[in-house]
Amino acid sequence: MKAEKKNGAASPFSFPVSPALTVKLAKLGLTRDADLVLHIPLRWEDETRLTPIRDLLPGDTAQVQATVTEAAIAYRPRRMLTLSVRDAGGGVLGIRFLHFYPSHSKLFQPGETFRFIGEIRGGFLGLEMVHPRFVKAGDDTPLPSGLTPVYPTTAGLGQAALRKVVARALEAPIEDTLPANWLSKLQLPALDTSIRTLHQPPADAALAELDAHRHPAWQRLAFDELLAQQLSLAAARAQRRTLTTQPLPAQQRLTADFLSTLPFALTAAQQRAWEEISPDLAQPHPMRRLLQGDVGSGKTVVAALACLQAVENGLQAAFMAPTEILAEQHAKKLTPLFESLGLRCAWISGSQRKSARTAAWQAVAAGEADVVFGTHALFQEAGSFRNLGLVVVDEQHRFGVGQRLALMQKGSEPHQLMMSATPIPRTLAMSFFADLDVSTIDELPPGRTPIVTKLVSAARRDDVLARVREACLEGGQTYWVCPLIEESEKLQLQTAEDTHAALTAQLPELNIGLVHGRLKPAEKQAVMDAFQAGDIHLLVATTVIEVGVDVPNAALMVIEHAERMGLAQLHQLRGRVGRGSRESACVLLFETPLSELARARLKVIFESTDGFEIARQDLLLRGPGELLGHRQSGLPMLRFADLERDVELLEAARELAQRCLKQHPEIAARHVERWLGGRQGLAGS
Ligand code: ADP
Ligand code: MG
Repeated sequence: MKAEKKNGAASPFSFPVSPALTVKLAKLGLTRDADLVLHIPLRWEDETRLTPIRDLLPGDTAQVQATVTEAAIAYRPRRMLTLSVRDAGGGVLGIRFLHFYPSHSKLFQPGETFRFIGEIRGGFLGLEMVHPRFVKAGDDTPLPSGLTPVYPTTAGLGQAALRKVVARALEAPIEDTLPANWLSKLQLPALDTSIRTLHQPPADAALAELDAHRHPAWQRLAFDELLAQQLSLAAARAQRRTLTTQPLPAQQRLTADFLSTLPFALTAAQQRAWEEISPDLAQPHPMRRLLQGDVGSGKTVVAALACLQAVENGLQAAFMAPTEILAEQHAKKLTPLFESLGLRCAWISGSQRKSARTAAWQAVAAGEADVVFGTHALFQEAGSFRNLGLVVVDEQHRFGVGQRLALMQKGSEPHQLMMSATPIPRTLAMSFFADLDVSTIDELPPGRTPIVTKLVSAARRDDVLARVREACLEGGQTYWVCPLIEESEKLQLQTAEDTHAALTAQLPELNIGLVHGRLKPAEKQAVMDAFQAGDIHLLVATTVIEVGVDVPNAALMVIEHAERMGLAQLHQLRGRVGRGSRESACVLLFETPLSELARARLKVIFESTDGFEIARQDLLLRGPGELLGHRQSGLPMLRFADLERDVELLEAARELAQRCLKQHPEIAARHVERWLGGRQGLAGS
């Protein structure tokens, strides 16, 4: 297609579009004819009928055809243009424009007839419309034969202009990307009819069905979108298969020694995960695997085995965690175990003294360290590895996609094992994470006592205090989690300190510690060590303890203002207890009144301790965009498909993507190009 010229400026479309309009369209991501064609309306309005004013009811959205009887500019309570109009049936309606131009007051001359479309309100002086859309009309002006699309738009770009360019783009026939016999098997309509139906639904189209996205035309678009996503992810995966890296075959030396020193046997689920990871490391292509398992399921041991398999082959492993507390905890726990097997370990963190850090990096660069523990400082700094074979990323969901990439750019492609305790619901795993292989630990180590969750109104705080005192005096330990104050870190700190002071006054017989994000790492560590050693009975904490902290003797947790927290966060927090043989409980204090969403969340967390079920509910309550978090925003979002609603389509798309890539790569390429244009690179990682 060749761009025509107008006013000397090239239009990116196959028809002339003014430069100003082109800029506005680009703001909506519309830069090709195909983009316009896929710019599907948000909703539709029925302008195919005129409603007599007499039949109008407040709350209706309706179209009337009426003649202006009075027009005036009022100044009280503010400047506005008011009209009184009367239709053929004799009904009278008030119209108000709060923003208007001199041209408006010229246009609305008594005697002139218009069609007004808008919502009917029961006004002070009878029924009225405020800011209706309108067109000048006579009795012989034809009504549109189909529903009127209302498009998503941006400031300064009106519906009329958008409708015009979209209609123009729709003049050309829309070629299907998929063969007709595939479609009939899938029971999906042709792309051309589907798209036209959505842009210009016939007057008798079931609006409810269209709005609810149940219409076959929607299904077709949702399917195509999912297919494009599956294809591009599969391509990213195939691309990864073309990369080579050092294979790390199992030598059964260090790993076997390690297993024999563990005081426990792997659970069947850990064993299964390890049997997937170990051979994957032996491949000459970089592993990109997500190890997911609920809080406390024992992912660390499996990651340790992977590190050992890398070291067995003479390569280095990096073990990264998103927070200092967590990274240090891994280092403390694993370093002695690794050293007893003859490994050399290093520790690198952002808060380390410069000299210590320089020394650590020197050891890493010289190959004098086999395993390096650290935070993201590991890849934000200029240091380099001698021969990095494996990167373990704990709590992967805490790292952004960008950070994942930065890491990859460091040296050649190492194998990568990412761990997440926020289980990814199956549908998400199948879509956004489909470029990863996934291993799942779906079983907790034996001997865990189930956690009892209690919902307690904040009015009963005193009862809770009594319970904390009792639990601590009996030899148990307790976490007290301060309310989350997202708006202000300063306030958050203040609250933590106030809570600590109040609890210290109320429970004088207990030793009470405080840990929050603003403590220096050494101070933080000192508090955590004291808690670990049992010297602190009650640990007041902000949500910094959300991930990874492992103190089996702590069996009671109180969370204040639980209604402010998200489901994943509550689940993570609660996972800090129930790690030993003590009866464990998590008390969720909440303030009333509860919002509907907060109530729904608390119900889920109260009823379930299964991370997968909680994640599924979370997806239902929030939708995938939020679940993935803004950190993951580099991923292309789904515009038409909905991972909960369209599970069947997703499965069908996944299945077809596999076959299509193998047997009809040209169809796959065409389909991806149509849907993702130049953007398909985003889907890989
Ligand atoms: P997470 O999956 O949340 O990272 P961890 O790896 O921290 O869990 O393990 C939680 C606790 O369970 C640790 O104290 C760990 O030593 C213990 N653990 C791990 N595997 C087993 C097992 N197979 N049997 C008994 N305890 C185990
Ligand atoms: Mg962990």
